[in-house]
Amino acid sequence: INDSYGHAAGDEVLKLVARRLRQVVRMSDTVGRLAGDEFIIVLTEVSDGDVGGQVAEKITEVLSEAFQVLDAELFCLPSIGITYYPDQAETVETLLRNADIAMYHAKHSGNDRYLTFSSDMAQRSVELMNLETDLRHAVNREELELHYQPKVGGDGRTVVGCEALIRWRHPRLGLVSPGDFIPLAEESGLIIPIGRWTLAEACRQFMEWRRHGISPPSISVNVSVRQFNDSQFLDNVRDVLDGTGMPAGCLDLEITESVMMGDVERAVSALNTLKAMGVTLSIDDFGTGYSSLNYLKTFPIDTLKIDQTFVRDVEHDTKDAAIIATIVSLAKNLGFQVVAEGVESREQMDFLRSNDCSLFQGFWVSRPLPATDFSIFLKNSAA
Ligand code: C2E
Ligand code: CA
Ligand code: CA
Ligand code: CA
Repeated sequence: INDSYGHAAGDEVLKLVARRLRQVVRMSDTVGRLAGDEFIIVLTEVSDGDVGGQVAEKITEVLSEAFQVLDAELFCLPSIGITYYPDQAETVETLLRNADIAMYHAKHSGNDRYLTFSSDMAQRSVELMNLETDLRHAVNREELELHYQPKVGGDGRTVVGCEALIRWRHPRLGLVSPGDFIPLAEESGLIIPIGRWTLAEACRQFMEWRRHGISPPSISVNVSVRQFNDSQFLDNVRDVLDGTGMPAGCLDLEITESVMMGDVERAVSALNTLKAMGVTLSIDDFGTGYSSLNYLKTFPIDTLKIDQTFVRDVEHDTKDAAIIATIVSLAKNLGFQVVAEGVESREQMDFLRSNDCSLFQGFWVSRPLPATDFSIFLKNSAA
């Protein structure tokens, strides 16, 4: 069970969960608290093959109802793993391990609230667990690096900024992309030291470019929800700015709409503090989150980044085209800048331009580049 902030749920919440779970099952079944926010349910004398799935759906439903009553802002998401005795395991240890592995996969799948154990899961989870162990050392062993992708203006070549994108140079696996380890980093809390490193490294690199007279006007750094919600985050930003001598106005922080799913007041106050420091703020992946447009009024943001899923088929899909046109005019009317991400072709760029969007990022301009290659790109585009 995790709450909507991605934190482990509090004790009060867990008691409620336990009560509700007991209502879902029969007298002959068992509900136990395994550890922390993990529960175990033993269903006896199950004949029909998919009873586990039915119970899992019921649990999800009952919990979401319970939390709507408790607090409309809060929702608790269970991840459920199912395994069957004696088909899949005969000992208690193996049953528990199977259920745990299936639960772990449900949690990381993004879509599935519950999954039934299968033997290929076991193999994959060994890999994932190894990855988590390795990630623990990645910062100290200096295995992380940042690549930089230019953000350009309407002419398609004037660099107006760049986005720092993290990579992990794994000793065995080679270059691991953030999609493969950021979720793991968030789940394990490692995103806090990793995020701190990223911020410091991006600012350090920016100042180095500046000393060589080639820095882009600004640099954007991705901030994950868990990092944003960390109590040290604001101090960390302040320390990095002070420590590197980075002008605050050259630092842009990219957050997603999901920061709205937590404590809104706290989020607004944190964003105001950041604005007061002088940094600029972008909403990343705009249009893919779950939050209402209402926050656009209260959030002191500067830029909306149109998610690349809308850009991908823009020439063929009239709905995507309409969405983009709408986001651009929304941004203009509210006084935000708007950046289109994932621009891969001249046609896409032309469409965006004709719809009043004049800031772009994407493979059409350049892939994210290692720092040295990016310096060369900067020198060439300045020439
Ligand atoms: P994002 O912030 O939306 O970053 C854009 C992603 O799209 C990057 O993937 C980038 O390489 C890719 N991209 C850029 N142009 C194109 C294009 O024209 N076509 C296509 N198909 N893709 C394009 P990447 O580097 O793999 O990063 C994936 C995600 O990982 C990022 O999505 C961001 O959410 C996260 N991430 C990356 N670096 C960091 C970081 O330092 N901290 C945190 N918290 N998250 C990060
Ligand atoms: Ca948890
Ligand atoms: Ca981003
Ligand atoms: Ca994005």
